[in-house]
Amino acid sequence: MESLIQVAYLFASIAFIIAIKLLNSPSTARLGNLIGALGMLGGIVATLFYKSIIRYEWILIGLVLGSLVGAWLALKVKMTAMPQMVALLNGFGGAASALVASAEAAKELLTNTLSFLSAFSLTTIGLSIVIGSVTFTGSLIAFAKLQELISGRPFLLPAHHYQSLLLFLLSLGATAYFSLTKGEIAGMYVLSIASFLLGFWITLPIGGADMPVIVAFLNSLSGLAAAATGFVLNNYLLIIAGTLVGASGLILTQIMSRAMNRSLWNVLFGAVGAEVSSGGSGDRTVRSTTAEDVALMLSYAKEVVIVPGYGMAVAQAQHAVKKLVDALSEKGVETRFAIHPVAGRMPGHMNVLLAEADIPYEKLYEMERINPDFPQVDVALVIGANDVVNPAARKDQNSPLYGMPILDVDKAKTVVVLKRSMNPGFAGVENELFYQPNTYMLFGDARKSLESLTQALKEV
Ligand code: NDP
Repeated sequence: MESLIQVAYLFASIAFIIAIKLLNSPSTARLGNLIGALGMLGGIVATLFYKSIIRYEWILIGLVLGSLVGAWLALKVKMTAMPQMVALLNGFGGAASALVASAEAAKELLTNTLSFLSAFSLTTIGLSIVIGSVTFTGSLIAFAKLQELISGRPFLLPAHHYQSLLLFLLSLGATAYFSLTKGEIAGMYVLSIASFLLGFWITLPIGGADMPVIVAFLNSLSGLAAAATGFVLNNYLLIIAGTLVGASGLILTQIMSRAMNRSLWNVLFGAVGAEVSSGGSGDRTVRSTTAEDVALMLSYAKEVVIVPGYGMAVAQAQHAVKKLVDALSEKGVETRFAIHPVAGRMPGHMNVLLAEADIPYEKLYEMERINPDFPQVDVALVIGANDVVNPAARKDQNSPLYGMPILDVDKAKTVVVLKRSMNPGFAGVENELFYQPNTYMLFGDARKSLESLTQALKEV
């Protein structure tokens, strides 16, 4: 039976690797997800055959309750709330790893065999609790910030980073003590409390605009915690799956940091965004326009570049965008989409929504590819994007966005922005783009504005 379980684990691991590969492209992502889920199911079923399992009641109760809550959340959560959901899932993953490692230690403690464990086993128990707890509490803060339960601004205590450093050293020091003293329980208390607090301390100073980086980082940590627990339990599937999540999370963290033009170190310790920038000064006139005027403008354009952002997701306007693209194409107007890597609230957010509306993938252009073309673009149509088109990122050294590469929408001949008000975006900073002489604001819910726009375009 033991060998069969290991074979099942091998297949599950292969399924995870294939799944990651297929998740690379929107056209194969669904299949990838399914294969990954089947791999996980195989892993769970195989684990249930372990001979060390004596009673199944609690496992079944956990399986049923967990599946019900998971299914309910997955069905209920809105696309716009996905990042919070991912943050919570990371957190629960971390908590599960920490709890399993603690239970393992408690079991050995109760049977008085803790001191017989090797230094390696004790260290993995300690590390699993440390990484898992940091992931748990860090993810809770990320969730609260993304859900706007607490302010998205950086929160810093006096000498905050020294306190974080102290908690970090305490966590590692106590892990070493726990291992060297052959399981002295005081070490476990200290490492648990210090790492629990460390998660809060690390994420509280992270500013709104840096959230994508930290969510990816916490995702990576949740994988590392699982891998550490895999070592505690001697479970190869957990080690492989945890390492895959850890590595892919780290790659994503790197991609997101690069998109913000920041190092992970700067994101973690920069507390960028503590001060609110007012954006620019100068001409502060806002030019409000109507759907009819924009329709006229678009019908005369040769090329229109559409810049989607978080507001498109909130308004669920992707299908309305598709209808506009079709109407423009009937008029012989070319359209392309400019995609910023951190537009929306999760990596690939815009790609997913546009794919859902059957917008051809060839129309989607990454920032580096489309930015040089903006000066020749007749109309840049910004649909619910804000931070990713804020020129302050280029010019204003005091801006929390300073240094983040943006879509150079302001360089287009004409800019039309669809949003509901003059409210700022996620980073909470004003946007000078809205005051530019070549910018027109079409106020209202993006979906309704797009519907009126398409209607008006057909009547031009
Ligand atoms: P922003 O959050 O900067 O701006 C979104 C804009 O959409 C708002 O200004 C809002 O203005 C408008 N909006 C909201 N609802 C509607 C609606 N129904 N109709 C029309 N407009 C609407 O979005 P961006 O995509 O430009 O930038 C993403 C930001 O999120 C970045 O700061 C990024 O760092 C951050 N982030 C990204 C993550 C990722 O992984 N991609 C994860 C977490 C954070 P108004 O209220 O006036 O309508």
